[in-house]
Amino acid sequence: MHLDQERYSRQTLVPQVGIAGQPKLAAGRVAVAGCGALGSATASLLARAGVGYIRLIDRDFVEISNLQRQRLYTEADVESGMPKAAIAAQRLAEANSEISLEAEVTDLSSANAEALLSDVDVIVDAIDNLEGRFLINDVALKHSIPWIYGAVISTYGLSMTILPGEGPCIRCLLPETPAPGTVDTCATAGIFGPIVDWISGLQASEAMKLLLGQRDQVSRGLCQVDVWDRELEVSGVPVRPGCPACAMGRYEFLEADATSETVSLCGQDALQISMPSGSTLDLEDLGARLASGREVLLTPFMVRFEAEGHEINVFADGRAIIKGTTDPALGRMLYAKYVGT
Ligand SMILES: [Zn+2]
Repeated sequence: MHLDQERYSRQTLVPQVGIAGQPKLAAGRVAVAGCGALGSATASLLARAGVGYIRLIDRDFVEISNLQRQRLYTEADVESGMPKAAIAAQRLAEANSEISLEAEVTDLSSANAEALLSDVDVIVDAIDNLEGRFLINDVALKHSIPWIYGAVISTYGLSMTILPGEGPCIRCLLPETPAPGTVDTCATAGIFGPIVDWISGLQASEAMKLLLGQRDQVSRGLCQVDVWDRELEVSGVPVRPGCPACAMGRYEFLEADATSETVSLCGQDALQISMPSGSTLDLEDLGARLASGREVLLTPFMVRFEAEGHEINVFADGRAIIKGTTDPALGRMLYAKYVGT
């Protein structure tokens, strides 16, 4: 028996996939936005199922508090300073060498979202902030690409498949981003590991239905699960008249200017400073400049060093993550002083 047939033999026995379905999965292209808990789990399911091309997008590196639920990473990855997207691509290639995996170590923004998300068949949302979801929504609507919303918090999770032109979008469900500090984050409410499997299982199933050409089988409602209470509820979401994105065709998040900006990271005592699109930085040069009198970790993706009690991580696109502060002014001062602008 040919390797391919043996590899997927238990999957093609499932009538919903069948022998005829495997080449469709192999021809499928998926972007997974975010390689945290949901992204690790969903990408793993899709890679092992033989989805032919998977783009893994993530801005961050691995921290010890990730290991409880982010299954593609190990303790060694916390020390290595390697970015999640690159590690995820490597681990998934070890699980399935027959597919193409592309790692994009970057922050999804209005400047790069169309380049990263518009040439795939399905977008899986596995990011940790609503603004990013609104950006995915804009690209998906503009380019008519189905996307699968997913979110987890505590023992609870949500998922909805959004089919542009065939029903509600995310902004029909959630019109605006909530004010900072008014919603729970993974750092305030935590995440109970098993809910990740529920939601990633729903997301991977929906993605596979779409790649298999079974759009009529896709769930049309908002699925809410509480894994602790063993409750699952699917409710209809109406298209909201006046929805800026799907009713009015205004892509406010995609059209927002992507300039240099400073944002605090979801639930972390950390800041991200991003540079305008197209910025590049010579990491080796920066590493060498910083190396006098301090310890510097240099990887192909990042320079990490300590300064004034803060851990500073600088990426090749000029982006920095500064730990131990959420004060934008302090962050910009540290950036200017040690990285330069
Ligand atoms: Zn809408």
